[in-house]
Amino acid sequence: MKNNVKQVFGTYEWAVENANFISGCSNNCKYCYSREMAIRFKRKTTENWHIEEVNMAQFNKKVKKVDGFIMFPSSHDITPVNLFNAIAFLKKLLEAGNNILIVTKPHFEVIKAICHEFTAYKKNILFRFTIGSKDSDILKFWEPNAPNYEERKKCLKYAFENGFETSISCEPILDDNTLNLVTDLEDFVTDFIWIGKANFLLRRLKMNGISDSETINIANELIQLQSDNNIKMLYKNLKNNPKIKWKESIKKVLNLEVSTVKGLDE
Ligand code: SF4
Repeated sequence: MKNNVKQVFGTYEWAVENANFISGCSNNCKYCYSREMAIRFKRKTTENWHIEEVNMAQFNKKVKKVDGFIMFPSSHDITPVNLFNAIAFLKKLLEAGNNILIVTKPHFEVIKAICHEFTAYKKNILFRFTIGSKDSDILKFWEPNAPNYEERKKCLKYAFENGFETSISCEPILDDNTLNLVTDLEDFVTDFIWIGKANFLLRRLKMNGISDSETINIANELIQLQSDNNIKMLYKNLKNNPKIKWKESIKKVLNLEVSTVKGLDE
């Protein structure tokens, strides 16, 4: 008999399904995995990745109720450019009875609108705000059009104070100041703070058309900061914090068991 327990990686560490309806993302992060895939499969280019195009077939797709979280979005973001459409899409997912994990580099305008629109669905929404550094200059360097640290923290506090479930994705870690980041944010987190490394950084930059020497030097510094020794030190410092969860990239360094999920026989 085949083993019916599968190891899970990436977004499947968090949710059973993903939902998306946009191609491209105006945040334009240099290390973006979705950008890498879109360029590889010739759906987008380096030059036009930042232009958000609604995929009407995805937008209009019928929604079923699933058992477990649906992650929305996973291959773009919810930015002010498509806020109106994102609210309509989210409404459809929630009205079908689903629990939604909203993963975003949060713009305050967006979070305020979602909290206002979906007060009745508070218990069906878990926010996960991506914050890889406390330093807005570092965020600006890697994620040029995404909000600065202060705006992301403001969103976290706002959602928390309005009674929504909140969590953080510190993935990719963008500096060596993760301990301070955790200290600064943990009081506004009802769920977990997930920590993960920057995966395949040089390969992604290359595919994403980013080859300037400044970025490559900073990327190499970041790879050094995420050496096995530094990851083990971070783990030592945070392992007793009940709000911390480690992504698969860190579990591998620590030889911790990777998350598993029961799947179909393969
Ligand atoms: S916010 Fe996410 S989808 Fe958008 S560019 Fe950044 S990593 Fe890619």
